[in-house]
Amino acid sequence: MQPLTQQTLSYTNDTLAARLAINFKDENTLNSLLGVKAIPHALSMIYAGHQFGGFTPQLGDGRGLLLGEVTNQDGMMIDLHMKGVDQTPYSRRGDGRAVLGSSIHEYLASEALHHLGIPSIRALALFTSDQQVYREHAEPAAMLLRSARTHIRFGHFEYFFYQKKVSELDCLIDYVIEHYYKQSLDRRKNIIFMLESIVDATAKMIAQWQAIGFQHGVMNTDNMSILGETIDYGPYGFMKSYQPNWVANHSDYEARYAFERQPSVALWNLNCLFYYFSNHLTKAQLIKVLSQFESKLMEHFQANIRLKLGLSSAQENDQALFANLLLLLEKDQVDYTCFWRNLSQMTDQNDRLLVTAGFNDKDGISLWLNEYCARRVRDDKSWQVARVEMLEINPKYILRNYLAHNAITAAESGDLKLFDDLIQVLVQPFDEHELLTHLAIPANAEQKNICVSCSS
Ligand code: AMP
Ligand code: MG
Repeated sequence: MQPLTQQTLSYTNDTLAARLAINFKDENTLNSLLGVKAIPHALSMIYAGHQFGGFTPQLGDGRGLLLGEVTNQDGMMIDLHMKGVDQTPYSRRGDGRAVLGSSIHEYLASEALHHLGIPSIRALALFTSDQQVYREHAEPAAMLLRSARTHIRFGHFEYFFYQKKVSELDCLIDYVIEHYYKQSLDRRKNIIFMLESIVDATAKMIAQWQAIGFQHGVMNTDNMSILGETIDYGPYGFMKSYQPNWVANHSDYEARYAFERQPSVALWNLNCLFYYFSNHLTKAQLIKVLSQFESKLMEHFQANIRLKLGLSSAQENDQALFANLLLLLEKDQVDYTCFWRNLSQMTDQNDRLLVTAGFNDKDGISLWLNEYCARRVRDDKSWQVARVEMLEINPKYILRNYLAHNAITAAESGDLKLFDDLIQVLVQPFDEHELLTHLAIPANAEQKNICVSCSS
């Protein structure tokens, strides 16, 4: 690791650091993180990956260093990983650095998702510097310290499989089973359990993305965690208004990773992963496990939607109720986050003004509300109990693209105030935050099409 010039520890996630017993004030810790003191067993990992559908036989941590593991308060081993450390053996033509803009962007998203209850890699600390790196133009460099239960990706399996490194692949499989998916003494049973668990965790994560309106943007197999956690934030986005074919990543010319395609891309990626187990399980066994994805996804998605709607259990016509709502939301391009928050706030069946205000099609939304209210009345949960629960599921604050853009621009001129304010609301997205309510306001017409700087 090569320290950046004038490198400073500029922002820390103190709550998470406390859980991991990391003390940023300790000189030894800080010197190790700053790269002043070498960390003996730090390593960069090799992997491969299907990027936008094409196979790249060798990728890897081109600018990342796995510093080591620490034990959290629950006794779980957690990886510490630094991004932007300088060149590694896997940098290919890259400079090994991360720019401040993308580091801030990743920090914000990982905190946002985590506090919405969506599994994610976590940001621990941001290091800034006066060093410039060149992308489309000169940008300030930064380093981001992150933590995660694992950094093992689908792409790790791909690398060893395609290189025909059979014993290394076995070693990786055994490592993953031992650390995350050990269930019995029978290796084959453990492999099946591991694959079933990966299918379920991935389905759960994708269902949560779809319910909240998150688009990852770069769902390559090297960006898929074997624990179903969100990793490798690039040009992601949170949906402003419901638009199924929305693409946050402007380099995704074919809309491969468009919002509505995320579930099928996840299945495509899992299919790649399963192929690497063709020496371990029969085709029939693999298909049996893989084919669980669709039902798992629907199960998780419908559970998410029921919670958003304040409904306790499934009833006939719930799917039609939700599908009709999406049509109305899409037609009038109503702000997705505000809609759910307003719906949550209804004090009774007649309290409709806030909800209907955003719609042009007043008749359409009124008819829908009639059906919805009737459904709530038929539900086991009382209106008031459902209201409280909905306000803890449907956030007031979401990471809006224009706010992320403004936070990055301010940070690039040395001002982290907006970044800090955003973190305050994103770590408690269901609270009101009376002094920060401007951070809940949807983008205006001018801000709507702001593309967050995506250089990595
Ligand atoms: P990402 O889009 O961040 O998932 O990165 C894709 C691949 O490119 C990974 O193998 C990264 O390590 C590598 N990479 C991205 N940016 C750089 C960089 N500035 N220097 C070296 N490698 C990089
Ligand atoms: Mg990546």
